[in-house]
Amino acid sequence: MRGVVAYAGIGGKLLGRLGAAVLDQVYPPVCLSCDAAVARPDTLCARCFAQLRAITPPLCPRLGLPFEVALGEEALSAEAIADPPPFGRARSAVVYNDMAGRLVGRLKYGDRPELARFCARLMAGAGRELWENRPVLVPVPLHRWRQFERRYNQSAELARALARITGLTADPLLVSRPRSTPRQVGLSGEQRRRNVQGAFLAHPEALARLAGRGVVIVDDVMTTGATVKAVTRALSRAGVRQIDVISFARVVAGQGLS
Ligand SMILES: [Zn+2]
Repeated sequence: MRGVVAYAGIGGKLLGRLGAAVLDQVYPPVCLSCDAAVARPDTLCARCFAQLRAITPPLCPRLGLPFEVALGEEALSAEAIADPPPFGRARSAVVYNDMAGRLVGRLKYGDRPELARFCARLMAGAGRELWENRPVLVPVPLHRWRQFERRYNQSAELARALARITGLTADPLLVSRPRSTPRQVGLSGEQRRRNVQGAFLAHPEALARLAGRGVVIVDDVMTTGATVKAVTRALSRAGVRQIDVISFARVVAGQGLS
């Protein structure tokens, strides 16, 4: 019996590898952005990858905004001092530029589901310090009408992929969006804030479900932070204390967009 199981195990692995090899023959891996041929799946070609700008230290410990020069570990950005965020820390993998925007666009419309795995790999690295206390990953929810029309919530896909990489749990139902709000695109900072105010609701049993763990909110792009701040407030009202944020891309003033 044991022999059979072992054999099935090896056979399964072999079949899996064979399957992957056959698939590579039929559908050779292509760049997630420009469709050029690449050596392995779920990645970008070297030319596209070079256009992504990773956000690396030194950065603001609260907002995760990159600093031009190191100001010391505790030094906050002017933005974090002027308008302290309700969440603890925010981290992002890359600066929002043309290439990041292209990837996010493809992610949003479910064009390339494997893109979530690629983005999540970069997010797992950028958020390293956020995973320490085993938080629960909570994607920014879409209103159910929009989810229905799109059939896809990119933040939930990112959270799921991130959970697989980090070994953390994703709970896409911890926060809901009972109120439908107009899209944030084209709105000013103050309009964005008012647009999403009170749009989110934490599950009444959020605290029980978390059992002492903190939360990391997962989003695709962070612009002014109005959305993740509104989600943070919904979680705070439910009694959640440790709330951080991870996004794939981050709009950085004066950087990124050509
Ligand atoms: Zn490419």
